[in-house]
Amino acid sequence: MHYVAITGGVISGLGKGTITSSLSHILSNSGHKVSAMKIDPYLNFDAGTMNPYQHGEVFVLNDGGEVDLDLGNYERFLNRNLLKENNITTGKIYSRVIEKEREGKYLGETVQIIPHITNEIKSRIRKVADSEKCDVLLIEVGGTVGDIESMPFLEALRELNREEPKNSLLFCHVTLIPEIGGNMEQKTKPTQHSVNELRGIGIQPDIIFCRLKGRLTEESRKKISTFTDVPEEGIIGVPDAHNIYYIPEIMYSQGILQYIEKYFSLKPGEFRDPWVEYKRNLESAKEKVKIAVVGKYTKFMDAYISHKEAFTHVTGLTGIGVDIAWLDSDDVKKNPSILSEADGILVPGGFGYRGVEGKVKAVQYARENNVPFLGICLGFQAAVIEYARNVLGIKDANSSEFDQSTPDPVIDLLPEQIGVSDLGGTMRLGGQKVHIESGTIASSLYSTNEISERHRHRYEVNPKYIDRLEEKGMIFSGKDDAGIRMEIAEIKGKNNFIATQYHSEFQSRPLNPSRVHRYLVQRALEFKRGRKA
Ligand code: GLN
Repeated sequence: MHYVAITGGVISGLGKGTITSSLSHILSNSGHKVSAMKIDPYLNFDAGTMNPYQHGEVFVLNDGGEVDLDLGNYERFLNRNLLKENNITTGKIYSRVIEKEREGKYLGETVQIIPHITNEIKSRIRKVADSEKCDVLLIEVGGTVGDIESMPFLEALRELNREEPKNSLLFCHVTLIPEIGGNMEQKTKPTQHSVNELRGIGIQPDIIFCRLKGRLTEESRKKISTFTDVPEEGIIGVPDAHNIYYIPEIMYSQGILQYIEKYFSLKPGEFRDPWVEYKRNLESAKEKVKIAVVGKYTKFMDAYISHKEAFTHVTGLTGIGVDIAWLDSDDVKKNPSILSEADGILVPGGFGYRGVEGKVKAVQYARENNVPFLGICLGFQAAVIEYARNVLGIKDANSSEFDQSTPDPVIDLLPEQIGVSDLGGTMRLGGQKVHIESGTIASSLYSTNEISERHRHRYEVNPKYIDRLEEKGMIFSGKDDAGIRMEIAEIKGKNNFIATQYHSEFQSRPLNPSRVHRYLVQRALEFKRGRKA
């Protein structure tokens, strides 16, 4: 087994996740079997209960794991599904160690960070490596070296390196090279300090990824090598790129594949880039549509990162560019006409009452003005609420999530949720089958009548209102296995309106974009052309 650990230094937010994803992409497209995992040093058990404003989107895996958004990038760059075990947190580690202590597994021993916590960490890493049967396992450590919370994880990696055969673990460190002054002089001191800090805990890096605006100069490369003992071939410049899908080729062009293969004595592979045409389309997209995303975390784009990526995937496949206008639903509520420039409208998922009325207004605007519309999860529920209020005339129609005493809960708690009080990991989660009705828009988007898509919800369309909604023209073109749970909504006679209870953004991949995002973009282009004509 070969492990690549990726740590970060100097400042947070340098794009360790993108670098890890890009490494996984290069290795896996060069004939090596690769997997990736993320260590999040926070105490939360998983990302499920975290506010998207603090940590960005909660990504959902097929197995129902609610995980860090970096796992989404790994899946998109690796083009394969990962498991919830690929995301470990301090919460998961400590709760298991305490559980074992109560079970009497450490009888007589004083339970300590070293060795009990570090052993638990190592055993989880090895378990992922074993179960995935990969040649190379990438392990990204969240946070920045020096953070108190990440110490036990770095110690565990140091121990893993000691315990495994020589050259089984390769350490990568991601740092920042500030460029200052009029001549943009590249400064290596922060990198030197950060590597010293890493060495202080017993870790000598083998590769340094230098984040900077432009190209890393030979002078900087030499200097960093001299001060850190990392060979020059192991110092890789990672400049800002306007699109993360260009990062693998930038890293590959600096010899990273050969460097890693040599370190691990792997059989040399040839990098076959599957994204050549995809990247060409991203670069050359001439016709562009404007898609308004109406949500409540729109000031922090990471909160909707999978939607943003899904639109990029659509561009890479179709060559239609997408400009996203991130609109706050409260602003839409005050003045829905701010949607007038949009060629298409997306209302994404969300929780809690704040922002909902603006989302309902956005659906109404789309429906009444015939603007192409896609609703996802809460966006789907908002579409049903809007239809009930404005087409069926049920004035107080609402979701019982927002108004527990509403006389008309058109969206109501899933029956299996009644009595569930814990918030963590208790929703209807992960991949679930959806049956598609033939002769509908949905059936024209999917070439099969049964699909599997990822879910994350506690509420659903209340079965008591389905007949009335259908009588007035709402079509439920996708249902769950038993046919009782509504999964896709369309409107009779409209060919630019679709909403799904599931989150197709989570399964969107560069060469296989979400079908509904693609549909929205294509309809938006028609709409734009029609408007001009
Ligand atoms: N809050 C809604 C529910 O729990 C929608 C969830 C979501 O959009 N992910 O059903």
